Amino acid sequence: MANDIYKEEHRIFRETFKKFMEKEIVPYIEEWEEKGVVPKEVWYKSGKQGFICPWADEKYGGFNAGFEYSAIIAEELARAGASCFGLSAHGDIVAHYINDFGSEEQKSKWLPKCVSGHCITSIAMTEPNTGSDIQSIRTTALKDGDSYILNGQKIFITNGLNCDLAVVACKTDPKADPPHTGISVLLVEDGTPGFRHDRKLDKLGLRGQDTAELIFEDCRVPKSNILGEEGMAFVLMMKNLQQERLIITIGAQAGTEELLRSTIEYCKTRIVFGRPVSKYQHNTFKIVELATEVELGKTFLNTLIADHIAGKDIVKKVSMAKWWISEMANRVAYHCLQLHGGYGFMEEYPVARRYRDARSLTFIGGTTEIMKVIIGRMMGL
Ligand SMILES: Cc1cc2nc3c(=O)[nH]c(=O)nc-3n(C[C@H](O)[C@H](O)[C@H](O)COP(=O)(O)OP(=O)(O)OC[C@H]3O[C@@H](n4cnc5c(N)ncnc54)[C@H](O)[C@@H]3O)c2cc1C
Repeated sequence: MANDIYKEEHRIFRETFKKFMEKEIVPYIEEWEEKGVVPKEVWYKSGKQGFICPWADEKYGGFNAGFEYSAIIAEELARAGASCFGLSAHGDIVAHYINDFGSEEQKSKWLPKCVSGHCITSIAMTEPNTGSDIQSIRTTALKDGDSYILNGQKIFITNGLNCDLAVVACKTDPKADPPHTGISVLLVEDGTPGFRHDRKLDKLGLRGQDTAELIFEDCRVPKSNILGEEGMAFVLMMKNLQQERLIITIGAQAGTEELLRSTIEYCKTRIVFGRPVSKYQHNTFKIVELATEVELGKTFLNTLIADHIAGKDIVKKVSMAKWWISEMANRVAYHCLQLHGGYGFMEEYPVARRYRDARSLTFIGGTTEIMKVIIGRMMGL
């Protein structure tokens, strides 16, 4: 994918990461799926090899890498069917909040550990009563001396069990009008009294990912742990959502490309009524349709990756790509499974897991409908 933006150094990095995955990730995916969590040791190994936050400044342990490296990591994890490993969520989504909006003290304290894998982060916005409508969150952080007292519940949090640091959206001014101006972001360390990693959620897909609930009960968080300024949460989120949605979409596209590739291979070799499945005109046409959709996604996404690297504002187009490519990934997964016949329904064939995992794509990072709300607004509709 996006071969034109990748140069020789990127190719070398990709091959190194693939080799690392073949040894440390791919053989363990099923075990992680059973346990519902990726062990922390894998995070440490990934960090040691430079596969976490490669964009971070050298003084924090990174190598100032361009977005291409983050894109490669997201692509290859998805291609290998390892989207359950929340490496990109931590490295390319959450840790960026600390890097982009943190004070020097916050950055020096946490970024080196984010890079080494010893500080796994999560972002906690969604609550049981609200996901899409973030300004309706109920978690409060009220001032008390040099601290905030945090109370509330978060749900569906990626890396929720493993996280050493949670980036939490909360209301520091619950009476603010409009409500979003009263929302702030706090950094809450694991081990802070009153912060509990609660239930690991049993999910349809991404079963190896530790998606969990986080509970905050009279949790005292130092005032110095606020990210940016009070009431700035929406500004911070808006700035970072472009990259968050782009990373999710890159994974969606790469995983879909791989699924189609393996399905074509299967259809060429599976013989029914004396001929390969792919030779029946209905199936040929279906595969051609799927390949066309995948190609359209790839072409659109390539331009967005290049524009993002060039520093352009692509919020509208990335919202378009997020909804269209994640829906396309589900269409392709549906038909790829059908083309496998009953084998597609069996866990021993990767298509089954990819089909389940794809289903999350239309919610995470904002639902298809919310993407359309954003685009409609930007079109002046
Ligand atoms: C695997 C997984 C991982 C996740 N990881 C995280 C995480 O790390 N951190 C985090 O904070 N959250 C996370 N989420 C939560 C995710 O961001 C939310 O599920 C998503 O934002 C939708 O919120 P909701 O589930 O409350 O749905 P709701 O907001 O209740 O939406 C229900 C339905 O209504 C539709 N809808 C809502 N508003 C509108 C509107 N204005 N117009 C039309 N339709 C609308 C939605 O599209 C959806 O179809 C994760 C979710 C999943 C499934």
